[in-house]
This record gives sequence, C-alpha cells and structure tokens, in this order.
Amino acid sequence: MHAGLDATWTAMQARAVERGLRVEIVDEQTVGYDTVTRCRVSSHSQPGQWHHVRVKASAAGVDVACDCYAATLGRPRPCSHAAAALDALGMMPTPEPARHAETDTLDNGRTIAEEIKTLSALKLMAYAFGKDADEDEYQSQIDALKATL
Ligand SMILES: [Zn+2]
Repeated sequence: MHAGLDATWTAMQARAVERGLRVEIVDEQTVGYDTVTRCRVSSHSQPGQWHHVRVKASAAGVDVACDCYAATLGRPRPCSHAAAALDALGMMPTPEPARHAETDTLDNGRTIAEEIKTLSALKLMAYAFGKDADEDEYQSQIDALKATL
C-alpha cells in the first residue's frame, strides 16, 4: 500500500490523535536506500496491548503494514496505528493548502484567474483558426490550473 495523499489517511491520523495512541520505535534498519522501521502502537480497543507496524521507506515511496484486525480485513487499508506510526516518523503526507484564483500568482507573475482568462482567449483563437490540437492543449492547461484550486 502506498501512503499517498489520501483523505482516508488524514481521517485515520485524526482518529489516532483523538485516541491518544502512543508510538514506540522498536527497531530501525537501513539497507541500501531503503529504511525499515518497526514500531509498536498502543491499542485503543485492547488496553495494554500493542499493534506492530512496519514502515518501509524507499525511493518508490512508503509502504506501511499493521498487524491489527482492521488492517488485515481482506485487503490492506489504512488504520489509525499505521497513521500514528507515519505521523511519529514524520512521513504523514500534509495536504496542500487550497489556492485562490484571484490572489495566487504563477511563475510568470499572473494570477491563476488571469492565466485561465488568457488561455481561454488563446483557445478561442485556436478554435477560430481550426487548430484543433492547439485548442485541446489550451483546454488541458486550463483544466490543470483549475485542478489546483
Ligand atoms: Zn492497525
């Protein structure tokens, strides 16, 4: 499982904080570019018990596995223990703050709103001159900008 930018992980992290889960690093090994960290995370449902979380960080990303019931139900999925471990190791992804079309500027100094307006004008010209490929290209740039908002 890849610990990407995922709303489920954020929710699991919030649950871990709310439940006050404790994380202890048991062992850490580095092999080549990979680091495998074994942690134990306190169980909320079974006080005094620990869940064992294995976090492997490599060039390909972060893999995390937990031995709790929730994490082993059929398919791997995020659990609060894995989220707590990632958080403790500083590997929890932080969501990017939303951007504002009218105030956030791009590298060229224009705001996102201005850039979309410019691209829309270029797209209209490409349409008028029958340049379908250019028209598609401008539209995909507009879509990409809108996706960041
Ligand atoms: Zn778990």
